[in-house]
This record gives sequence, C-alpha cells and structure tokens, in this order.
Amino acid sequence: MVVMNNIIYFDNNASTSIDKQVLDSMLPFLTENFANPSSNHHFGIKVNEAVENARIEVSDLIGAQQNELIFTSSATEAINIALKGVAENYISKGNHIVAVSTEHKAVLDTCKHLETKGYEVTYLPVRKDGVIDINELKKCIRTDTILVSVMYVNNETGVIQPIKEIASLAHKTDTLFMSDTTQAAGKIEIDVDALGIDLLCLSGHKMYAPKGIGALYVRQRNKHVKLPAFLHGGGHEQGIRSGTLNVPGIIALGKACKVAQEELKQDAERISALRNQLEHELLKISGSFVNGSRDKRIFNVTNMCFPNIDANVMIGSLKHIAVSNGSACTSSTLEPSHVLKAMGLSDSDAYASVRFSLGKYNTRSEVLTVVQNVTEHIYNLQNHAY
Ligand code: PLP
Repeated sequence: MVVMNNIIYFDNNASTSIDKQVLDSMLPFLTENFANPSSNHHFGIKVNEAVENARIEVSDLIGAQQNELIFTSSATEAINIALKGVAENYISKGNHIVAVSTEHKAVLDTCKHLETKGYEVTYLPVRKDGVIDINELKKCIRTDTILVSVMYVNNETGVIQPIKEIASLAHKTDTLFMSDTTQAAGKIEIDVDALGIDLLCLSGHKMYAPKGIGALYVRQRNKHVKLPAFLHGGGHEQGIRSGTLNVPGIIALGKACKVAQEELKQDAERISALRNQLEHELLKISGSFVNGSRDKRIFNVTNMCFPNIDANVMIGSLKHIAVSNGSACTSSTLEPSHVLKAMGLSDSDAYASVRFSLGKYNTRSEVLTVVQNVTEHIYNLQNHAY
C-alpha cells in the first residue's frame, strides 16, 4: 500500500510502507478486539488466541516453534535482550563476545556497553567485499567465548554472510550463535535449524508491518538457551519481557510474515530485476562502482559510490526521490558509514556513496525516473566539484 504524493521510495531498508492486508488484519485489534490478552474473560481469551496464532505465523517464517518466540518493540530491543541476557547468564563460561565490525549500531553499541561492564568484545574485520574471512573468525573464537553475533544481511550494502558456516564454527566450542536477521526476514528463506541459529531478531517495519513491533527467537530445542528477565513486571513473554502485549502490532507482524512467506519467491524475482536494471544504468556514470560483493548480496539493495559527490547534498536535492546514504539510524551523524569504512573505503568515497533499497511496490518506470534524475544530479555535482 503506497499513497505517497508522487514520492519514489527507494529506501525500503530504512522502513517499508504497510501492506494493505497487514493493515486490515490489525485494525479490529485497535477497535472492537481491544481486550487485554492476559485477561481470562471471554474477550481476553479471544484476543490471546489471535496473539498465539500470530506467534505461530512468525515462528513458521523462520522454522521455529511457538514457545521459542518473544515479541518485542523492535529489533533493537530484541538485540539488547539477547546480548545483555547471554552476557549475564553465561558468565560462568566466560566474558568474551565476537561481533562483526559491520553490524548494525544496535549490536555494536550494546557490545560497547558490555565492554564498560567488564566484557571483552572482538570486532571481526571484513574483507573488501564486506564478507567475513572464516579463518579470521576461527582465530577469534576462544574457550571463554560465550557468543558470536553475525548479521545475515547487511542493511547498508545487502551483503550476505555465510552464517551456516559461522554457526557451526561457534558450536564447536559450545558458543552460542546469534544472527541479526532484520534485513533478511521475509526476503530470503530462514530456517533456524538448518542454519544453526540460537538467537535471532527481526523487525516489523522492515517487512511491510508497522513500526514498534519486533521479535526475538530464543532456541529451546536441542539446546535450551536461557535468558534472564529484561523487563520486570507481570511475567509476560516467558518472564523475559514483561508488559502488556502490543496486540495490533503482533497481529500485523504475524500477517506480514504469512504474506512474506507466500510472496517471497515472486518478490525476489521481480525486485532483483528492478535492482539490476537500476545498477546497470547507474554504472554508466563515470567512475561509479558498487560497494560490496555483488553475488553474495540480497536482491533488493545496491550501494553505489559516485566519486567526488557529496551524497548528502544529492539526497537533499532529489525532492521526489527517497534514497539514503546508509543506515537511517545513524544518518544524522556526520561520520562516514562505519560499514563502508570497515570495507576499506576512503572517507571521501564513503561520503560519496548512496544506498538504493527497493521494495515490492516499486516499478520499472520508477527505476527509469530515478536513473534519469540521479544521473543528472551527479553530473551537476561532479561538474561543480572541479
Ligand atoms: N538491525 C538491522 C540490520 C537493521 O537494519 C535495523 C534497522 O535499521 C535494526 C537492526 C534495528 O531495527 P529496529 O528499527 O526494529 O530497532
């Protein structure tokens, strides 16, 4: 569903619009079905049944079981619950955590916080293409490592990490494996068992559900991952995250997961064709190049550098086109992207890079308009730079 006053929206990694089916599914829970799902009268029970059905829908998307899923307010909250919880509960094994230098700030900042509490964090570098070197990871994992955290798909470049290999390496030393799958969930298939994931997070607003709803997967089969209470109170969400449930958000997330499962293949085919066309055309701009691996990459993103331009200026001057220069969560900072810097880009190339992230509502004619506008803007900016 997109009603956007002629805006061409190529910033779907920052947030997606709400799917009409998703909106329709949640509306009754803002009106007539408003009861508290913890109430044991008939109305509460009915709402609780809907919540549990949504829990099944979300679990099904990632090959999990219903009792392994905790609803949160966001992926950021899920990451905080997981990282801080593992740190607290697994301290008898050790105090060492491994995370990748290109993780989202939600992971990196939580790790930085844990460092102030006496935990040791190794920030694994990436190669020029944005993918980790598995041999480097092997060297980092120690007997006192309690958690390895590697995102599945990078939010800025779309680069995909070999998480199955990473998980099996972590498990050799009985280390837990967590993956931030915020940019993968609903786009590519995820099976927590096949991939060996012990903890995972996802977020509604990256998959056509509203903001303010996310989920945390905590493995209970084969291995019982135990987390302490993060929010204390009425004991909701298995005592880990107390607080009355965000029922409309949960229903919406469940529906979004169901729709994503049904549309996954056709979206991938259609969106990748659009992304490839966009990239092909923009690569004709003198000096331009793609940041990160082009084959180990999700289908909806291209992060491109147009040397000698200031991406912020271009983004500001593209009045009817929404693109970004990296993560929306950090775009207010003046620092160059930590992801692009970790991949070896110079500051000036990082500042000259733009992320185009497409979604299921984008069209071929929008691609053509973006190509034309971006090409013109870059030509003007590059000519002013000299
Ligand atoms: N992880 C990744 C990879 C993301 O792209 C984002 C959002 O940009 C987050 C975590 C945080 O998600 P949320 O907005 O649900 O807190």
